[in-house]
Amino acid sequence: MKISFLGGAGGVTGSKTLLEIGKEKYLVDYGLYQGSSKSREKNWKRFHIASQVSAVFLTHAHIDHSGLLPRLWKDGFRGKVYCTRETFKLCEILLVDSAKIHEEDAKYANKKQYSRHKPALPLYTLEEVEEILKRFEVVNFEKEIKVSKNISITFYWSGHILGSSFLRIRYKDENGQEKKVVFSGDIGHKRNVLLNPPALLCEMDYLILESTYGDKLHARIPAKEVLGMYLNAILKRSGVAVIPSFSVGRTQDVLFLVKELMDENKVPKVPVILDSPLSKKANKIFNECFTKGCVKDEIMEKGDIYPTTISEVESAEESKNIANADGPMIIISASGMIDGGRVVHHVKNRVVDRKNGIILVGYQPKGTKGRFLLDGEKMLRLHKQELPVNATIFYVNSLSAHGDYLDLIEWIKDSKVDPKLIILNHGEENGSKHFKMLIESQLEINATVAEYGEEFNLDNIYIKNKL
Ligand SMILES: [Zn+2]
Repeated sequence: MKISFLGGAGGVTGSKTLLEIGKEKYLVDYGLYQGSSKSREKNWKRFHIASQVSAVFLTHAHIDHSGLLPRLWKDGFRGKVYCTRETFKLCEILLVDSAKIHEEDAKYANKKQYSRHKPALPLYTLEEVEEILKRFEVVNFEKEIKVSKNISITFYWSGHILGSSFLRIRYKDENGQEKKVVFSGDIGHKRNVLLNPPALLCEMDYLILESTYGDKLHARIPAKEVLGMYLNAILKRSGVAVIPSFSVGRTQDVLFLVKELMDENKVPKVPVILDSPLSKKANKIFNECFTKGCVKDEIMEKGDIYPTTISEVESAEESKNIANADGPMIIISASGMIDGGRVVHHVKNRVVDRKNGIILVGYQPKGTKGRFLLDGEKMLRLHKQELPVNATIFYVNSLSAHGDYLDLIEWIKDSKVDPKLIILNHGEENGSKHFKMLIESQLEINATVAEYGEEFNLDNIYIKNKL
């Protein structure tokens, strides 16, 4: 089997890996590039062999893993997209949301005439999203699917977001011998608020492993304690706590922690405003999937993860009205990095008042407004306005959906597996290199870092190691 890293190597977005067994071609994930304009430009590149790809194996719904699938359809792909039920449900809302953003961006570019392309076109449309969604085929966890006579695939719970999976692929190598390769996708950890830890790995020959936190560790202090402390600091002076949060996963974590803190009288029962239509849809999917095994037993027993004081805002009009409301109050809104969405308005309204606080609950990449705040900038530019940062900025750094390098090493140790080679992807260059050294010293397993565009012939690697 040959595998080529077409994205999600030498960086963390645009995950896509091409698998070739003889003439058969498959993809693991087909994600959107995000971040810098140089990175986003890659989204427009036509995939010339799209029509030759028989199937996509989708690890999870995050847009950096699924967000370019409508483009794949546009480029001629007519095969199946295999994924779990929850991944399909989440893709339905995330891909539609993504198409709307691309259509609005194109409209705006045409109005302002800032695009090089005349007229500016969306990356993909709602119709293209509908077409690709028709090709989804839902699979169960831990049930092997025979895709062709040469390849079978099994999805295992990866503990990252609802429905997320790592994949084990069984295939015949050039000599007709059976081999197993595991693609980790994104892997969670044991401290997740709502979700169970990832399933243990099964025996394999090769492991393709993510390395997002290859050189960083999360705080081990429970997020609930930290969040409670920050909320009290803001609410006790009648301030407004604005929590920018990703709609899928993080928002449900935060809502649950706020509910627990309020139920235990550790935080006053103030109004909680959820101003994110996408989060509202994600909450609904979370409720529907409540009994499906990904969520922790103790959470399922509680039955409800939302604070009693919650109100969900739908229309843009209602959203604007919140601007005039006085604290104490908690506003949760997307996006998590303040780089778009309704949260931008809330930060704009609240950042100038020293009574208020902004609680960041996720990773803030360079160049985002969230990162500016985290770095202690005194002025923030939003909607062409320079605003003094008088509100207090807080950061909860223990809510990541990714395991860090200690978590992943522990996961491999617990699984008692001994792959011949670990190929690291989904990480920044330094992080992956750091992680490679630790894997080799701690686990005594050969490791290498995949570069963007690099092709590996797994059958030859095996022969080399044998010699
Ligand atoms: Zn992810």
